[in-house]
Amino acid sequence: MAFVITSACEEEKAGECVETCPVDCIAEGEKMFYIDPDICIDCGACEAVCPVEAIYPEDEVPEEEQKYIQLNQDFFK
Ligand code: SF4
Repeated sequence: MAFVITSACEEEKAGECVETCPVDCIAEGEKMFYIDPDICIDCGACEAVCPVEAIYPEDEVPEEEQKYIQLNQDFFK
């Protein structure tokens, strides 16, 4: 499992998570930041610092945000 960045990041794009991630698996895209699910160690540090609560554990991503699971994954392909 991994953490997932969702739509709230598209408006805010704060970036606190990037500095916080201990394994450096958050990358900046044009519209938002993305988490590499193959590297994420599920520590939750990014979730705690996100000012807009855009980050969820994969199994807690709200129904309307489900497509972001794939979008985070695809960014690293
Ligand atoms: Fe990085 Fe931890 Fe967030 Fe995964 S849960 S992206 S390892 S800070």
